[in-house]
Amino acid sequence: MGEDGTTRREVLQAGAAAMAVAAMTDQAFAITGDMAGLPWANNAMRWAQVAFTEEDPPRYDPQFWFDLFKKTHAEAVILSAGGDIAFYPTKVPLHKRARDLGDRDMLGEMAKGARALGMSVVCRVDPHAMSEEAYAAHPEWAACTADGKPRRHWAAADMWVTCQNGGFFFDFMPAVLKEITTLYRPEGFFGNRWAGSGMCWCATCRAKFRATTGLELPTGNDPQEPRRKAYILWNAEMRAAQFKLWNDTVKAVKADSFFSPNGGMNDPNNVIIPIVGIDRQGRSGTTPLWMMGKFAKQVRAYMQNLPVCGIFNVGIEDTNRWKDSVQRGPELEAWAHSGIAQGFRPWFCKFNARVFDPRWVAPVTKIYQWHYANDRYMRNTANLARVAILNSTQSGTFTAGGVAPEAGDNIRAAQRVGDSQNGYYQALVEARIPFEMADDRQMEPAHIGRYRLLVLPDIAALSDRQCRQIRDFVTAGGRIVATGETSLYDELGKKRTNFGLSDLFGCDYVKTEAGIKNSYLTPRHPHALTRGLEDAPRIIAATQQLTVRPHDATSQPLTLVPSYPDLPMERVFPAQEQTDIPMVFCRTVGKGRVVYFPMDIDRTFWEVLAEDHLVLLKNAVLWAMDEAQPMTVAGPGLLDIAYWRQARSLSAHLVNMNNPMFMKGPYREMIPAGPYTVSLTIPDGARVGAVKLLESGIVPKTQAHGAQLVVEVPRVRLHEVIAVDLA
Ligand SMILES: [Zn+2]
Repeated sequence: MGEDGTTRREVLQAGAAAMAVAAMTDQAFAITGDMAGLPWANNAMRWAQVAFTEEDPPRYDPQFWFDLFKKTHAEAVILSAGGDIAFYPTKVPLHKRARDLGDRDMLGEMAKGARALGMSVVCRVDPHAMSEEAYAAHPEWAACTADGKPRRHWAAADMWVTCQNGGFFFDFMPAVLKEITTLYRPEGFFGNRWAGSGMCWCATCRAKFRATTGLELPTGNDPQEPRRKAYILWNAEMRAAQFKLWNDTVKAVKADSFFSPNGGMNDPNNVIIPIVGIDRQGRSGTTPLWMMGKFAKQVRAYMQNLPVCGIFNVGIEDTNRWKDSVQRGPELEAWAHSGIAQGFRPWFCKFNARVFDPRWVAPVTKIYQWHYANDRYMRNTANLARVAILNSTQSGTFTAGGVAPEAGDNIRAAQRVGDSQNGYYQALVEARIPFEMADDRQMEPAHIGRYRLLVLPDIAALSDRQCRQIRDFVTAGGRIVATGETSLYDELGKKRTNFGLSDLFGCDYVKTEAGIKNSYLTPRHPHALTRGLEDAPRIIAATQQLTVRPHDATSQPLTLVPSYPDLPMERVFPAQEQTDIPMVFCRTVGKGRVVYFPMDIDRTFWEVLAEDHLVLLKNAVLWAMDEAQPMTVAGPGLLDIAYWRQARSLSAHLVNMNNPMFMKGPYREMIPAGPYTVSLTIPDGARVGAVKLLESGIVPKTQAHGAQLVVEVPRVRLHEVIAVDLA
C-alpha cells in the first residue's frame, strides 16, 4: 500500500503505462544527471514528512516537530498543503479548508519553522478526492464507474473520487499549485495519488479517448485486446500531459521549483524531476528484507545519478491500514537500512501531526543520526557493481495481464514476471555478487556499458531495437544470462515466431509448455556451469519449459529428463533416464558470452528455493562474467551487499539478513552475525587511506594485496559499512 491507499498495482500501472509510450516511440533517451540549478534537491540527504489531518490545526504541537527535525538533522520537510483538503487559508474557489483549520495557517507556520532550521520545504498535494460542494458545482469532475455512475469516496462518505482527465486535474489543481507556489515559494511539490484512482468511465474520459483513438473505453483487462492496448498508451500520454502542466504551472511562478509525482514518472523522458520519493512504506505479507533495496535499484536505474528517496512509514503497513500505529524499532531500522545500503536517502512519513504513540521517535532518530554522522559516505557518486538485472516494465504490462512486474504483490497476472526477477535477485544476494538493476528503456552504451554482464530474467517483451542493443552489447564484449521466454514478444506483447535473440541463444523457438511436473535435469561434467553439482546425478527442472531447435550439435552441460507420471506410485519411473536435449546454452559470441536457459529456472527458484538452482544461477553469472567480482565476502549466512564510490572515499555495505523474520516481517530483534572477511578491488588510480567501520565504530584489521584490500569485519549487527578514505 502507498501512503494514502494507492495499491502498488495502481502505482505501477501508471508507471508502466508511461513507459509504454517510451517503448512505442522507441526514442533514444539522453540522461545527463545534471544537477545544475537544483542544488538543494541534491543536497538534502534526510527527509521528513508530516501528513496533516483535519483535526490537527488547533491540537498539534509544532515545537515537537521542529525539535525532531533538528535532532534528526533532516534537511527537507514534506508538508500537506492542498488538493482535496487545504491546510492554509486558500482563496481558490471550492478548495475546501481543513475542518478545524479556522483562521490558522498550519502549512505556513510549519514551513516557517522548518525554514528557520535551514530546511527545504516541499508541499504535498493530493488530488484524488473532492468535497460535496465541489461535486455540487462540478459533477463532471467526478470519476465514474464502468456504468457511468459517479464514485463516492470509498473511505470518506462525504467526498467524491475525482477524474484524472477532467477539470479537477487540468483546471482546478493548476490554480491550487499556482496559489501555493505564490504564497509559500516551496522548493518543490510532492504529488500523492497524482495519477487518479484507477480507470474512469466518465463522459470526459469517453469523449477524450474517442477523439484520440476513435475507440470506446475498454472494460476488460487483456492488454492484447486493441481497446485496452490503446487505453494503456493513451493513459500514459494523459499522465505525461498532466505532469507537464503541473510542473510548468509551478515553474511559471518559481523557476527552480518543480512537481515530483510519487514514484516519479517512471519514464526517462521525465527524469528532469530532480528528486523522486518512492512510496514503499513497509513490509506486509511475505516480503524479503532486501525488497527496499530492490526498489532503490529499480528507481536509480531510470533516475541515473539523480537522488532518490525511500519513503518509509513509522506505522504498521498492511492492507488493513492501521494509520496511527507504530512499528517497533528493529523492523523500522531494518527496512530503512535495506534501502539506504542500496542508495536510498531516508524519508520518514508520519501520518497525523499529533503523536498518539511516540515509540517510533527513538528508532527514527537513531537511523537519522547515524546517517548524519556518516553523511560523507552516503553521498554516492558511482556504484561499482559489474552485474545488473534488467528491469522490464513492458513485459509485465503487455505479456502478463496488464500489470507491471512487482514483487511482494499478490497480483497473479504479473506474478510470473516479478517472480522470475525476484528469483534471480535472491540468487545474486545469496551468491554475494554485487549487482545493480538496469532499465530496459536505457540500454545505450552510456547506460549499460559500465556493466560486464546483464541478467535477463524471462524478459519476454523486447523491441527489435532493444534486441539490437543487447546484441551490440554482447558483440562488444558484454555478457548476458537469459531465461525462459526472453525476447519472444515485441515491446507491445505481440508474439514473434522466433526469439528476437535466437542468434545469441544458439537455438530457435518451437513451443512453450507450462505446469510441467516431475521433470529433471542431468548435470554434465566437467563444466563451470555445473561445478558444485558433481555429487548430483539429477536435479529438479523448472516447471515452464521451452522446446527449442539448437543451431548446432555442441554438447551442453545440462540436459532434460522429460516429465513422467507422479502417480500412481507404481508408474513413477522415467520413460527415458537421460536425453541429449539441452536445457542450457553456454556460448561465446563475438567478444562476449551468453548463457540461455530455455525454462523459467529463476521463477522456479523463487517458488522452491532449491539450492541446486542457486548453484546453476550463480555459476551461469560467474562463467559468463569471466572476471573477478569487485567485492567478495566470506563468512556465515545471508547478506545483502553493495560497493559504492564517493568523491573521496569508497564504501562497502553489508546488511545482515540472518534473521528468522527475513522473509516476513517484522523483525523482533537484531541477531548479529560474523565474522566476515571482505575483499575489495580498489579502483585504478585510487590510493587507500584510513579505513573504519561505521556501525561498530572500530578500525578494522586490513591487508593490502596489490589492488585488493582485505578487511576483517568482526560482526555485523544490522548494517555495517566499511568506509575507505582515499588518500
Ligand atoms: Zn473521467
